[in-house]
Amino acid sequence: MLLEKVLLHREFPIENGKALQFIYSSKQSKTQGGLIAGTTTTNVFRNPQFKKAMEAMQSQCCSPDEVIFGPDSHQSLYCHLLCGLIFRQEIQFISSTFSHSIVHGFRTFEQVWEELCVDIREGELTSRITFPSVRSAMAKLLKPNPQLADLIREKCLGMNNWYGLVRELFPNAKYIYGIMTGSMEPYLKKLRHYAGDLPLLSADYGSSEGWIGANVNPIVPPESATYVVLPNIGYFEFIPLKENVEEHVQGEVSNSFLSTEPEPVGLTEVKVGEEYEIIITSFAGLYRYRLGDVVKVTGFHNLSPELKFVRRRNLMLTINIDKNTETDLQLAVEAASKLNAEEKLEVLDFSSHVDLSTDPGHYVIFWEINGEVGDEVLKECCNCLDRSFVDAGYVSSRKVNAIGPLELRIVQKGTFQNILDHYVGLGAALSQFKTPRCVGPRNMEVLQILCDNVVKSYFSTAF
Ligand code: AMP
Repeated sequence: MLLEKVLLHREFPIENGKALQFIYSSKQSKTQGGLIAGTTTTNVFRNPQFKKAMEAMQSQCCSPDEVIFGPDSHQSLYCHLLCGLIFRQEIQFISSTFSHSIVHGFRTFEQVWEELCVDIREGELTSRITFPSVRSAMAKLLKPNPQLADLIREKCLGMNNWYGLVRELFPNAKYIYGIMTGSMEPYLKKLRHYAGDLPLLSADYGSSEGWIGANVNPIVPPESATYVVLPNIGYFEFIPLKENVEEHVQGEVSNSFLSTEPEPVGLTEVKVGEEYEIIITSFAGLYRYRLGDVVKVTGFHNLSPELKFVRRRNLMLTINIDKNTETDLQLAVEAASKLNAEEKLEVLDFSSHVDLSTDPGHYVIFWEINGEVGDEVLKECCNCLDRSFVDAGYVSSRKVNAIGPLELRIVQKGTFQNILDHYVGLGAALSQFKTPRCVGPRNMEVLQILCDNVVKSYFSTAF
């Protein structure tokens, strides 16, 4: 992380200022053996070295610790936005661990900006923020500032569908920074919309199990970002992925195909152009741990491989001989939402499910969309989704009705926020949140949230 920040500094020198960081710390707990346990980001943010390093790099978070470590993420988000506005002239960049949090942050801004302006005008925090520690920390920063409130109000009212919001609010910001590849790619369009002409820089490649690679060329667009493996961070091995090797099906390994899995190769034995699953052996004690990520080797930086993140390995959508991955779903949604784009509508978030309660089973895609959209367009989107799964197993099964027509279910606004709240309520870190792109039958609670919020449903007539 620090290496990458140094590289970023070289490309985008920042002045002595602050950063608007949408970071949140979840709760830590004690194991029976007395060890403190928490999510990776929580441990990172709580580590005194983190703050020192950020200060040294002139990237201090504009929000006080009480906000970052606040017990309620909704309240923390509101305060992050308020601090950002108070220090708007000093903000050098906007960041989060995963870019979902940035999009989530500015979507929230769209809803609360008037309340933020009232707080700034009067120098008093809304009563919605209830935690005394957060209130007293914010009271130290908040002074009545009607000019600033007027300015923000004027900017917000003058905006065209919030295009270039970040640039307007933070005139000295140099870039937006966070993980933008993999499951974060669907948020890029919205992020670009908010960013206007501000560059988007994809952060490095890491996981709770261990850091993996640095983006040594951060100026390339996020879609082309690659990561150089940090060879001293762990011992890396790579399982070659060949077309004829059986994939994991919904997290379970098909025994009959186990023997066909190729032997892992070492760091320097990988081949350019090939895809692999990463195995990590770490100093923290993980031994030959399968990360479940598929990467493609795009070249070498010195002797270390340069990787492009491809997808999570497990198949998500499969009923019989069909195999569709996270990438396939992402591509299908992208293609179908382009039909929407003409209607100036936007897919806010999406997920999927294999419904085996019907005979034959069928794919269900859940969409939360922005604005009113006609039935005709959504029917066409549903057909387009069905046609966009081009996997031969899927297409042939659809043709003979071994898989039923794909179903597009539109859920009401706020459904994906409810899913996020559900996970945060279980102790997940908002900073590391990733929308589940496929909800299996065992994830009953999330499936229930999705199903309870369906407002419309369409079946494909594409086959
Ligand atoms: P976590 O479960 O929060 O530790 O997240 C780790 C996972 O996030 C990795 O195994 C990847 O699947 C994903 N991830 C992390 N960094 C990136 C990246 N730069 N691009 C795409 N996916 C990433």
